[in-house]
Amino acid sequence: MFDPRLSVVEGDITRLAVDAIVNAANESLLGGGGVDGAIHAAAGPDLLEECRALGGCPTGEARITSGHRLSVKFVIHAVGPVWQGGTKNEDALLASCYVQSVKLAAQAGAASLAFPAISTGIYRFPPDRAAKIAIEATQAALADLPLPDRVIFCCFDHATAAIYRQLLGVDES
Ligand code: ADP
Repeated sequence: MFDPRLSVVEGDITRLAVDAIVNAANESLLGGGGVDGAIHAAAGPDLLEECRALGGCPTGEARITSGHRLSVKFVIHAVGPVWQGGTKNEDALLASCYVQSVKLAAQAGAASLAFPAISTGIYRFPPDRAAKIAIEATQAALADLPLPDRVIFCCFDHATAAIYRQLLGVDES
């Protein structure tokens, strides 16, 4: 049975009304394409300045900043692995992104948290395998924590949302 705090939404993560969103960042933390570009564009140049001061982040880890011009309080920058066929510890590194992000959100007091499908775009991680890892790692991390009390998997496309809905056993909506 899955944690009732987990849910699926289809859409643009920069438009969600939550306390914290996760960015699928790269090790430089200096912005990029995909969801990273969308988050930096919406948050404005002060986010880039705050990220620059962090001095990067290794793959599998996460760092927290404020949300700047976004309506969220926090952006959690998680660096997912580039898919290299599955033999380079990609599964564990991806799981670690979800666990670290949940822990950072909890420490910051975020009541609601939204994740994109980390590594499944430019980094080419197979989406069904990534979704299973995302759900399992998030659920495991939440088990010890009262917050966040709502975690949304924000899927940019219908196919990804369908994978999450099927894994979580929720109806199409
Ligand atoms: P990565 O480099 O980790 O693969 P990408 O940003 O290329 O990161 O893709 C990660 C996922 O985020 C993909 O499923 C992509 O479709 C999705 N995505 C892209 N833009 C947005 C957005 N604005 N909101 C939510 N998800 C997005």
